[in-house]
Amino acid sequence: MSQDVISPDRAHEIRAAKINGQAARRRTFAVISHPDAGKSTLTEALALHAKVIGTAGATNGKSNRKDTISDWMQMEKDRGISISSAALQFSYRDTVINLLDTPGHADFSEDTYRVLAAVDCAVMLVDAAKGLETQTMKLFEVCRQRGLPIITVINKWDRPGLDTLALMDEITERTGLLPMPLTWAVGIAGDFRGVWDLQRDRFVRFTRNNSGANIALTEYYTPEEAAASEGDVWTDAVDEAGLVKDSNLPFDPESFYAGKGTPILFSSAALNFGVKEILDTLVDFAPPAAPRPDVAGQLRPVADPFSGFVFKVQAGMNQAHRDHVAFVRVCSGIFERGMVVTQSRTGKSFATKYAQQVFGREREVIDEAFPGDVVGLVNASELRVGDSLYLEDSVEFPAIPLFAPEHFQVARSKDPSRYKQFRRGIDQLEHEGVIQVLRSDLRGDQAPVLAAVGPMQFEVVEDRMTHEFNAPMRFERLPYSLARLTTVDAIATLGLVHGAEVLLRSDGEYLALFNDVWALRRVEKNNPDLALAVIGTQS
Ligand code: GDP
Repeated sequence: MSQDVISPDRAHEIRAAKINGQAARRRTFAVISHPDAGKSTLTEALALHAKVIGTAGATNGKSNRKDTISDWMQMEKDRGISISSAALQFSYRDTVINLLDTPGHADFSEDTYRVLAAVDCAVMLVDAAKGLETQTMKLFEVCRQRGLPIITVINKWDRPGLDTLALMDEITERTGLLPMPLTWAVGIAGDFRGVWDLQRDRFVRFTRNNSGANIALTEYYTPEEAAASEGDVWTDAVDEAGLVKDSNLPFDPESFYAGKGTPILFSSAALNFGVKEILDTLVDFAPPAAPRPDVAGQLRPVADPFSGFVFKVQAGMNQAHRDHVAFVRVCSGIFERGMVVTQSRTGKSFATKYAQQVFGREREVIDEAFPGDVVGLVNASELRVGDSLYLEDSVEFPAIPLFAPEHFQVARSKDPSRYKQFRRGIDQLEHEGVIQVLRSDLRGDQAPVLAAVGPMQFEVVEDRMTHEFNAPMRFERLPYSLARLTTVDAIATLGLVHGAEVLLRSDGEYLALFNDVWALRRVEKNNPDLALAVIGTQS
């Protein structure tokens, strides 16, 4: 035997070391924010600072949105918004960063929430003039429930806005997180001179150039130099940051990982100020891809054979090919294109011949991916949101929860003779997780109630029912705006109550729907023994 031949054990060790090394280099995150806070601008700025690996030019700032966003549906084109969400991958320092996109429209949907099941960390982007807005808070709640560490970025500091300390108070009060500044704005909102880098105790001065088209010029100064050049503006910043630091803690990575404290950074994404500091924070402090728990709570080591789960399914991205793309977050092992994996729900095998990296309209064939990465599997009509895939050692990751719907409409086939197509379409869309479907004996099968987190989900359903399933349909709005989990007993109790109704969701849960909070309160008061539980992300 030749001396170069390595034993299977040694080969295994080498492979494990490679995977562990790659997982440790991964940072997988999403930006949570309210529309207009600057998410697209920040995405572009991050990509500008880093090296975009496979999808150059794929970011979707509004300035060039027309050219770059996904245009898989006419609806998207008409509105100039992106409904699809996938991952942008870039390298920075020695790290591979996966930024999972979340739909940026006010009518956000369950997809936005599901993306948060696939990331290891979130950047909460706050508009300096507006503070914590509704959509940010909804997404924050999901992050909190998942125990995701959150980095807070106060954006648009180049524009007049709120006071730094008022923003810190709002964060503490509304999220319960302790603000732990890593950088602090020098200059009030509207007079952004730079930041005090508290870790390195230095002043990072920003200089405007070409309004953000290029990486901003940064210069570094000692505190003494900063005091000399910036005078009171510098001392005010140091005093304020000192107050926050004293009343909370200096930055503590453990508190960040535990979801108790949040590092604070200041930026102007549009001017590329403070963007490098966000990347450095991701590299230095954000958690790498780590072992993920399976349904039984057992951790799957990252060096185990390939495993991952589907967090999003998208159909019709390419009109010509009418394809289905299932987005998979890799949890362990190496994903190699062409490998045949097992789908845990059905036990069936699935060949991964068509694997892509997708962001907006850009697509690239992907050959290899590591824990933390996202792979788009094309023609994956068998795969559903929440499905686990694995090679060799079986694993099932926890289901992605269904979220609290707030919008309800009855769906009916326009043409009774096409009821079969109608039924098939609704079933398929439900399986893909496009919409939740609720039924009751009273309403019958012909008129299911569709329940959505965001109203745009209905438009997607209508569009696909018409064009893909050839089953034109119409909606009737229902007056409900609130859902609670209940039991089968509620059917009898609430049967005749005005402003309430009980329906069965296909996961076996009974949902009680109410017109508004007053209807709910009335029912609670009159039926103190009735089980009415808040659904996952509801406030
Ligand atoms: P999104 O809806 O969160 O993706 O927000 P966009 O990135 O599209 O930004 C919304 C608007 O705010 C656009 O007009 C941006 O140019 C602007 N914007 C974003 N970041 C900044 C910033 O740091 N400073 C200023 N002045 N404007 C910004």
